[in-house]
Amino acid sequence: MNQAQNSMLEKIRQYGVSDERVITVMGEVDRADFVLPEQKQFAYEDRPLNIGYGQTISQPYTVARMIELLLPALPSMPPFSQMVLEIGAGSGYQTAILSRLFERVLAIEVIPELAQKARLKMNDSGFENVKVKAGDGKEGWEEYSPYDAIISAADAAEVPDAWVEQLNTGGRIVSPVRGEMVRLTKMTEGSFIKENFGKFSFVPLV
Ligand code: SAH
Repeated sequence: MNQAQNSMLEKIRQYGVSDERVITVMGEVDRADFVLPEQKQFAYEDRPLNIGYGQTISQPYTVARMIELLLPALPSMPPFSQMVLEIGAGSGYQTAILSRLFERVLAIEVIPELAQKARLKMNDSGFENVKVKAGDGKEGWEEYSPYDAIISAADAAEVPDAWVEQLNTGGRIVSPVRGEMVRLTKMTEGSFIKENFGKFSFVPLV
């Protein structure tokens, strides 16, 4: 790991992410592999970067915080035996991080070109427990459901019914909802705990 990568991780810690499982994996997945060639010099800066098609790779802190919120019920060390659905795969950066923390990752991206790029990246880089498809994440991915965790990198007007239906009991959804980070934990069919974790800015779930 180089100096710039180290200081990216340090910043994430300073902002309050304390789950070392997340920090460790973020040190193993190189963000420079997921940005456009002309953006590589900025790869370890804690900000979103353009990835084409009007989209951005998420800020590293935001990725870390969301995954930290998604993990608590997992055992303390990988490999974990849980399955996660990711909405808004974009560059595939968060997808790659999730693949080191979950047994299986199902990822959906609405822009076909980005979905294709993310899929190739996953195949080339040996992230074998990942499937990426182009499609509308609001419908979830029924074929592989139920999921233990669902994470969205796009801001929903409200949490889509499909996510709730495709979630296991005890499972968690972490998503921005109208500008606020929300975590829903499914207690029984039809009952949830809802927690708010403050303001975050995201592209809308289209
Ligand atoms: N985690 C990604 C974030 C990309 S930004 C990364 O770090 O690269 C959010 C992504 O959500 C965009 O790529 C956008 O195209 C996608 N998106 C928006 N609405 C969507 C929808 N309905 N279904 C699937 N993906 C969607």
